[in-house]
Order: sequence, then structure tokens, then C-alpha cells
Amino acid sequence: MVSNATNDPDRPLLERLIGFDTLSRPLESWYAFVGRLIRANLLNDVDIRHQLPADWVRWAFAPHAVQTSDLAAPGADIKGLPDPQLKLRPVAWHPFPDLSSTPPECLRGCPQCLQAGYHSYALQGDLIARCPVHDEALVYRCPHCDTPLLWQARSPGLSAFHCPAGCPLLEGVHSGLHVPHEAQITAALQEHLAWIQALRQAIAVVSGPVHIAYPPYLAVAPLRTPPLPSKGLLPALLHALQATGLALPTFAPYHEQSHGRWTVAVQAWTWNQAEIADEDQLERYRRAFRRGAYRTYVPLASRAAFDHWLVASESAHGRWHDGAVEEGSLCATFVLPSYLVTNNELTALRRLLARGSDPGLACAHYQHALIELLEHARVRRIALDALEKPSPHVTVAEAFDAIVRTATGYWRVSGRTKGDDESRSAWRDFREPAEMASGIIHVMRRHGPR
Ligand SMILES: [Zn+2]
Ligand SMILES: [Zn+2]
Repeated sequence: MVSNATNDPDRPLLERLIGFDTLSRPLESWYAFVGRLIRANLLNDVDIRHQLPADWVRWAFAPHAVQTSDLAAPGADIKGLPDPQLKLRPVAWHPFPDLSSTPPECLRGCPQCLQAGYHSYALQGDLIARCPVHDEALVYRCPHCDTPLLWQARSPGLSAFHCPAGCPLLEGVHSGLHVPHEAQITAALQEHLAWIQALRQAIAVVSGPVHIAYPPYLAVAPLRTPPLPSKGLLPALLHALQATGLALPTFAPYHEQSHGRWTVAVQAWTWNQAEIADEDQLERYRRAFRRGAYRTYVPLASRAAFDHWLVASESAHGRWHDGAVEEGSLCATFVLPSYLVTNNELTALRRLLARGSDPGLACAHYQHALIELLEHARVRRIALDALEKPSPHVTVAEAFDAIVRTATGYWRVSGRTKGDDESRSAWRDFREPAEMASGIIHVMRRHGPR
């Protein structure tokens, strides 16, 4: 239950708190706003519980958890903002949330702005590297003890305004009632916002995107939460699209332009538009997916293309896959041993069929991705058997794939990161719990783990 301040006679009106009027700063974060109310009104923990609505402090540090229905509490004041989402959600600052590598930090900002009591969720993502006004690199460490402010370091009971080691984050910083460079920061963030909107205008993702993290990743990501792309994907993608002749808004000096570990290729994308596929057909393909501990079923969206590839692959490499085409009741499927592919790969394939706005395009993209994925699985299988030798197929790496539509046409954008050769040892006995059926799947060498 979200309590309503005005119904509680003992609670002073929120509007009377010093600094409440700064809620109207359009691009500042909720974190900065709530932190200001606490400092400017010298609220202790008891006061906070008594004077602020129950969820306000929680939102300050866990904006991802905010539901749209929660927005009822700040009521009219927040509805007056041009876009309340920018104040409440870091994700509202991403041109393409699926491509963003939301950093592991729970708080990131410019040291000088934070010192002055100012923070914006624009600085929270991976697009901005330096403060547009102070030209300082953004930081995500406790100013008192240098502990990184990471999500994974936080314990459930920890207050939003404490670092994981316990230091009060609001101590020794200004309340932010007056921010010396507020006008410049707001103007710079407006410009950044216009840049984001121009990107959304110029690029439409029409199939995908999918991101595959090549395992082992269980140690770093909780079950059912595949890791997000590593940093640099969006700059790499934008630079690659610019090379196609597409006019894109230019990067500002404060933007992150490093490609990280990404290499992105762009190819003109064409597909057979005469091949009819409708929503019902897509649904049949989606249902045909089955993942068990021993056998995995993947639908065949274009039988002719698949048969052609399979014949060529078998004549070159023999029956390496130990699989077979089956005529199912919904559609034809390829049935293969589960150890050949990972859950993350399967989920990515499935996503292509689940999301396409154009069923024909989605099926064509899926069919290409399926064949490439099986090719990768084949080479990986060989590399696993010769694990001592370096191979990019058995390192911890990432892949990215999408079809985008721009003013210059349709493009297939494919990206890869290359893992360190040493990371291949992590594949010796790679296990992952299956998501589509119970069981543990081992992707391993022919003779099992040593
Ligand atoms: Zn700054
Ligand atoms: Zn600390």
C-alpha cells in the first residue's frame, strides 16, 4: 500500500518540506530529489518513515522496480513534469534499452555534481562517459571509503543512502537546494535527450535484437537473467551504420565512444517477401520449441533453406550433429542433442520469432540465425574436443544480432566480442540448468569432463 500523505493528520504536508519545489527540475533524478528532502529537512531514519511516503526511499535506489501505478503517490506535482519517466527511470534515457549495458553500479554520477547535490539518471547508463559541464569522468564509488556502489554488493536491508560498507552517502555533500551550474547541466542534458530522440527517429529495430552471452556465465548472472551486453555495443553499432552512409546525429564530446570489445558488421538485408508467413504460423513455430535435458526441438521456418544447408554440411563433415528432421503436428522441427546448444542460444532464437513485427521478415531472420548458430555449435564441438588449443568458439564471449530499418534501407547488424583465450578453460565442464524443461544440460567434450 502506498500511503497518502494528506490522509495522515500527524504528517506535515509534503509540500511544506524544504526543497519540495525542486521536484520541478525536469531532468534531475528521483535519487537527488529524495536525498535533498532528507538533508535539507535534517530527517533521521524515524523522520523519514514518518514524513515521507513508504516507497520514496526505495525508489531512490531501485528505480528499476518502480511500477507505473506507483506514480500515483507524488500525484499532481510529478504529473506536471514534461516527462516524469526521465526523473524516475534510468531506462527512459536509453535510445534502445535492449542494447544498453546497464552498468552494475547502482549509482553513477559526476563527482562534482554529486558534491553539489545534483544527479540525473542520464548519467546512470553507458552513453555518457564524462560530465558535460565539469568534464570529469563519472564515478561509482563511495566518496568516503572507495567501495564500488554495485548492485551485487548491496544487502536487502541496506538503506538507499548508504554505501555497501555502511558510510552515509549524503554526509558532507550539499543539499542541492542551489546547484551552481544547474542551468548548464540542464541545457547539456536537454541536448543529450535530443540526441537520443534523433537516434530513435533514425533507426528502427524491426527484428531482434538478440544478445547471446557465451557461457559460462552462471557465476555472474542469477538464474534466468542472462547478462546484458558488455559496454561499447551502441557506439560500435552507430559507427557501423554511419559507414553505410546513414546520417546520424554526431556524438558530443561527453558521450562514450569506445567500442569496448565489440566488433560490429553491417550488411544490406534482403528477404523473400513473397514467402507468406502470418501470426498463426509464427505461433506454431513458437510452440514447436522444446528443450529437454537430452533432446532439443527447434522449428524449421524455411524447410528448403534448411535442407539445403544440412545436405551441404553433412557431405562436408558427416553426421556430426546426431540430429534429425521430424515432421511435427505443428511444423517440421530439427531434433538435436541438447548438449550441442546452450539455453542462451535457444532463448535468443525463440526471441526472434516472439518479437517480429513483420512475420515474414522474422522467419527469414530466424532461419539465418538458426543455421549460423548450428554452424557455430559444430565448430565449438570440435574445439571442445581439442580444448588445449585456442579457439574463439570456446571462450567467454558475446554475440549480437538485429535487423534494423533506416532511411537507407534494411540492414542486418551482427556483432561479436572476443573472449580471452584463457577463458576457454571455463568450458571444461560447462553446465546450465535448462529453462524450457527441468534438468541440467552439460555442454562438454566428447568424453565428458576430466
Ligand atoms: Zn558535473
Ligand atoms: Zn563507504
